Amino acid sequence: MAKMLTRRLSGIAASPGIALAKAFRINNDHYVPVAGKAVDRDLEIHRFRNAVEEAKQELVEIKDLTEQRMGAAKAEIFEAHLMLLEDPDYIDAIIEGIKDEGMNAEFKLHEVANSFIEVLSAMDNELLRERAVDVRDITGRIMSKLRGVSFEAIAAINEPCIVIAEDLTPSDTAQLNLDYVLGFVTEVGSRTSHSAIMARSLEVPAVVGAGEIAAEIVTGTKIIIDAIEGVVLIAPNEQEVETYQARKAYYDQRKAQLRKLLDQPTLSADGHRVELAANIGSVEDLQKVLANGAEGIGLFRTEFLYMGRKTLPSEEEQFQVYKHVLERMDNKPVVIRTLDIGGDKELPYMKLPAESNPFLGLRAVRLCLNQKDLFRTQLRALLRASSYGQLKIMFPMIAVVEELQAAKQLLLEEKAKLIQEGIPVSDLIEVGIMIEVPAAALAADFLAKEVDFFSIGTNDLIQYTMAADRMNETVSYLYQPCHPSILRLIQMVIQAANKEGKWVGMCGEMAGDERAIPILLGMGLHEFSMSASSILPARALLKEISYQEWASYTQQILAMSSQAQINQFVEQKTRSDLT
Ligand code: PEP
Ligand code: MG
Repeated sequence: MAKMLTRRLSGIAASPGIALAKAFRINNDHYVPVAGKAVDRDLEIHRFRNAVEEAKQELVEIKDLTEQRMGAAKAEIFEAHLMLLEDPDYIDAIIEGIKDEGMNAEFKLHEVANSFIEVLSAMDNELLRERAVDVRDITGRIMSKLRGVSFEAIAAINEPCIVIAEDLTPSDTAQLNLDYVLGFVTEVGSRTSHSAIMARSLEVPAVVGAGEIAAEIVTGTKIIIDAIEGVVLIAPNEQEVETYQARKAYYDQRKAQLRKLLDQPTLSADGHRVELAANIGSVEDLQKVLANGAEGIGLFRTEFLYMGRKTLPSEEEQFQVYKHVLERMDNKPVVIRTLDIGGDKELPYMKLPAESNPFLGLRAVRLCLNQKDLFRTQLRALLRASSYGQLKIMFPMIAVVEELQAAKQLLLEEKAKLIQEGIPVSDLIEVGIMIEVPAAALAADFLAKEVDFFSIGTNDLIQYTMAADRMNETVSYLYQPCHPSILRLIQMVIQAANKEGKWVGMCGEMAGDERAIPILLGMGLHEFSMSASSILPARALLKEISYQEWASYTQQILAMSSQAQINQFVEQKTRSDLT
């Protein structure tokens, strides 16, 4: 084989770190068999049955392995695959086809599976559409047995590698064995896509949205990912390997130094106090939160409690989760956001009508006000949990003051009912909203009168202000946290809240962005909530920069016309602060 030259790909640095290893491509094998006649129909059926049996054995092994390593819930996906291998509609249709038409097994498997996939993919129901992925997956496995080639599955990885995939679904990420998977690269995705958020919570270096060329990386190729700069090097030369090994060593050493800031308060160089909190999606994230010295939870995305299941979580189930989080946080502030479903997060079992613009549709608080029983259940669970810690309830996607008033009214009604039932409810619960719709930012002065706090959701605020889908990498150049339009909105929000004596946090990805932190400090942001892994670097940075100095730059920064100019200014100033 001809020796490849190093190729460089740029993508989005989604989760920081550097990794050097061989690539491991997740099955993207689109093998299409040729139609041919079976030499002997019975023999062909026998060959097919054997392949199914081998696939079954392999799946049982992977299922057991996943269960041991990651628990029964994560292994459930393989149960569905095993059931498909027993499904007469699928398996018998292939056998009948071989028997009646005398076709070869590969062709018949491909044909039957394709007709299944086509029908399932066209279904309205998300759960059924997901079955298409299972059929594709299991078909690939049987096909590999027929062809005598190995079928690469994430859970079967047992040597150090960097995973390459078109994208990673939550079930893919669930199976990643972090003893071996040193990082991953995806062809699609953005900084705020769920595979990116997952990578940060697992603290795995990841470059996402690396484009179609990433599809050319084959298993076994040596690669380097620099998920600080967002670069992937394919087949690097010796010198490049040495350079990146040194960078990795430096990065790992700095990480160790940051550990020393674990229990220190967050103070700027001139002694201004801010709070560094963490974003979580489930109770499993709490360990990382505590291990990274968070001073609270600034955002608990409760929608993950509702996802990946077949029915709504009950009040009791939710109560147990919220109580657990509050107790583990030991009276530190915990901001729990009410259900933010819609947009890219679907709940198939709710059978909501399809929308042509889901991000602009019945999402978050809009859905909750439309489905009041669902909302009341969550509010009751939150209120019941409130006596176990310092709870703050936050409503997402508020656009107009009437939505906030309606949500608060339901909260009051549920509180009154609980008190009447003799169930204790804390009197100290704060109620706030996310500022993620430009309308809310522009009218923050009215909203500030009705809340205890704001938390700026820049992931959506940027998406809606720039009119650029946060999931679409072709417009990711418009994801500009430090664009003057965004900074002006943020300043308006902080000023409006300050005027009413309310505090302002930020829980979008921008809060952990080192190029934005000095500006936000200077503008007077009170709380920064981010992925747990960003907390210590943020604390180290804040320790080196002065609040007064950055406050004095605010007007100058807001008068600059582009993000590039602002980034350059911040880089230049922080470099001199750090030296
Ligand atoms: C945001 O929009 O900034 C945010 C934090 O919410 P999410 O990413 O869950 O939409
Ligand atoms: Mg949002």
